[in-house]
Amino acid sequence: MITRTSALLQRPETPSADVTPLTLQSAWQTQLSRAIRDPRELCRRLGLDDAWLPGAERGHTLFEVRVPEAFLARMRHGDPHDPLLRQVLPLATEDESIPGYVTDPLAEAEHTPGPGLIHKYAGRVLLIASPACAVNCRYCFRRHFPYGDNSPSRNQWERSLETLRDDPSIHEAILSGGDPLAASDRQLGWLVERLEAIPHLKRLRLHTRLPVVIPDRIDEALLGWLGTTRLQRVVVLHVNHAQEIDGAVIDACARLKRAGVTLLNQSVLLRGVNDSVEALAELSERLFEADVLPYYLHVLDPVAGAAHFDVPDEEARELVAGLRGVLPGFLMPRLVREVPGEASKTPL
Ligand SMILES: *Cc1c(COP(=O)(O)O)cnc(C)c1O
Ligand code: SF4
Repeated sequence: MITRTSALLQRPETPSADVTPLTLQSAWQTQLSRAIRDPRELCRRLGLDDAWLPGAERGHTLFEVRVPEAFLARMRHGDPHDPLLRQVLPLATEDESIPGYVTDPLAEAEHTPGPGLIHKYAGRVLLIASPACAVNCRYCFRRHFPYGDNSPSRNQWERSLETLRDDPSIHEAILSGGDPLAASDRQLGWLVERLEAIPHLKRLRLHTRLPVVIPDRIDEALLGWLGTTRLQRVVVLHVNHAQEIDGAVIDACARLKRAGVTLLNQSVLLRGVNDSVEALAELSERLFEADVLPYYLHVLDPVAGAAHFDVPDEEARELVAGLRGVLPGFLMPRLVREVPGEASKTPL
């Protein structure tokens, strides 16, 4: 649904090729532009003690706060340990330098044949469709990613598309980011039209957190291009805790399902968020209620500023063994790590 809103409204960040007129903004874009970006406001809105403020402000200077209202609404007021808040609240410790925690843990800079394109895995190419995210997750391995260099213009897109066209071994295009759904439907529609014209391409995959943090993102305009392409569609959501899945998320998933999309989920194993058999089991159960199958459970990438989320490998294996004891096989995520230079994710 496109709504006319005041030209004074601030636009969300969009890729440079985007030319959506200022006066036309979808409901989700308005929500995105109004996301909380001030650490003080985040603390105040959740009724946190002043003791959390200096850390939040310090962390914010390293990687800015961004939390949409729809996500904030699922957090418990007055609880600094809320599992959703913990994912987005900057802490003073982000600033500590810890051996082994680096700015580009996946060494992606080495696998970039063109701007916005990452080709590490056989048959699949990852395209950075938008440098922006709707939410800034503190544990993100891309918190230091040089997005400035990876926000392609349309001419650069044409060159990336040529790389795909020239390589018949590529069957799947993965739109990633940032969050690919932070780009406008106009831009995404344009891109998907180009992609579906490549005969050897079979699948379109999107890795996105937007349907979770702003469920209104799954609107008619999106279903217009996603629901009609000849490509088989897979959407990999990113949910870490059952509490993230409310009625609006379930409805958004139902809309995607009706449009013929296969829904999967990837999570990151995070200390203080989902590091128990109960939390992981509840997450899988809740995902299935939303018609989503668990896909990956990633161990944390050792990115500078995120060490407080670390769960050691031994503990991760024990958690997954415990999970196997309580869940049906089809609700078991695969425990994996991303190892720089490997041609697939590495099972633990
Ligand atoms: C994770 C990832 C993929 C997709 O891997 P799957 O195992 O197919 O989910 C593709 N390219 C890159 C660069 C990745 O990091
Ligand atoms: S890329 Fe994903 S994990 Fe990283 S900040 Fe964006 S939404 Fe969060």
